[in-house]
Amino acid sequence: MAEIREIKKAETSGKASIHSHITGLGIDESGKAKFKADGLVGQVEAREAAWVVVELIRQGKMAGKGILLVGPPGTGKTALAVGIAKELGEDTPFNMLNASEIYSVELKKTEVLTQAIRKSIGVRVRQKRLVYEGVVKELKVKVARSRLNPYVQVPREVEIKLATKDEERTLTAGDTIAEQIARMGIRKGDVIWIDAETGNVVKVGKAKGLEGAKSYDIESGRAVDIPSGPVKKEKELTNTFTLYDLDMSLAAQSISLTAIFSLWSEREISQDVRKQVDSYVKEMMNKGMAELIPGVLFIDDAHMLDIETFSFLTKALEAELAPILVLATNRGTTKIRGTDVEAPHGMPLDLLDRLLIITTRPYSEDEAKEIISIRAEELDIELEPQALEELKRLASENSLRYSIQLLEPSAVIARRSGRNVVKVDDVKEASRLFSDVKRSVKYVKEYETLFLK
Ligand code: ATP
Repeated sequence: MAEIREIKKAETSGKASIHSHITGLGIDESGKAKFKADGLVGQVEAREAAWVVVELIRQGKMAGKGILLVGPPGTGKTALAVGIAKELGEDTPFNMLNASEIYSVELKKTEVLTQAIRKSIGVRVRQKRLVYEGVVKELKVKVARSRLNPYVQVPREVEIKLATKDEERTLTAGDTIAEQIARMGIRKGDVIWIDAETGNVVKVGKAKGLEGAKSYDIESGRAVDIPSGPVKKEKELTNTFTLYDLDMSLAAQSISLTAIFSLWSEREISQDVRKQVDSYVKEMMNKGMAELIPGVLFIDDAHMLDIETFSFLTKALEAELAPILVLATNRGTTKIRGTDVEAPHGMPLDLLDRLLIITTRPYSEDEAKEIISIRAEELDIELEPQALEELKRLASENSLRYSIQLLEPSAVIARRSGRNVVKVDDVKEASRLFSDVKRSVKYVKEYETLFLK
């Protein structure tokens, strides 16, 4: 029995790493954007508009609607989408996709989009469980020698004194719980739950003391009160899955073991499986045991979608289970892919009509400098003031992205000279080694005749 069961986070894509410095939209209590906060700099109007979107989503008024982020390359459209996701919190699924990803060899375009849509709709499942909950006041883990390796000691039994504001209780438990407690690094002062039926341990957070102190939920970062009432009690536990998670687990049950290994790669999910999942979720909702959380589907470079996928998305927005669609593009008027029709942002007008548009503008030199310095800090790169000035100059001459991309090569060059601090010469050297787009185009033009010989 008793495997460690952690609350599963709703899926967000790992592709956000170049935006890892962004922790929110940096908005104050009155809904105004601070110049520099939560890792974001400038772009004030767009951030304030994004904040309104967050509020609409929280009030449930955005389901089936969409946002279009429009602006030149590198002006923070993706950064804004990440800010929205951070503000919504981990319980709201946020799924990022580049429009080119729908042109997969293995899957139909509509299948890729359907999977993306279902990854962006969360199902919060509520369960009433009998749990032991309290602050760990004392903890004795008895150990024994491992049978497999006598030099290793393994937890054998645990004695825990759990306390709430109102009660104290000592529990003893066998090796499985003892092992979980050791493995999870649970110490005196932690608030924990132990599922009374399965014996699973869910670590909740750190407590500072018993008198009204707050602790923080490790998963969500939200404040947690020191529990009150009895140690053993009925508690409502919640767990958020996406519809896609449920599709995949149902599909996994109905196929052979060998197929499971290919299941996690590109594979079509049958409509039958989806129908079963939908009707089960509806049943759970009717019983009051589950609720739907419309998450966000972010599609970057949306002008690369074609007419077929645009009409699919327009229809999907009207469906009963629809996520909030956030599209981004850096194109003005261009052809709708798959047609000869020119349209604003390369998108059909009936879709455009349904979208709220937020524009981003190019950064001033000082804004770009702030962004570069935030990125440097995030990457643990120390820049000499002149090095930062040089990167600022390169950003205004070329692009912000180019300067940001030179940070890591510059740090490698500095380290080669035995320094941790990046100097202006390191940046110049990195810029000499790695061309910007203007230079590479010029280079090709100069040598065009040679290439063609
Ligand atoms: P594209 O049109 O090419 O997709 P984009 O508008 O989506 O570009 P981003 O990728 O968001 O641009 O921005 C480029 C880099 O600059 C990223 O690392 C991003 O996190 C950072 N960045 C952009 N704007 C800001 C900002 N206002 N504050 C902090 N960082 C920013």
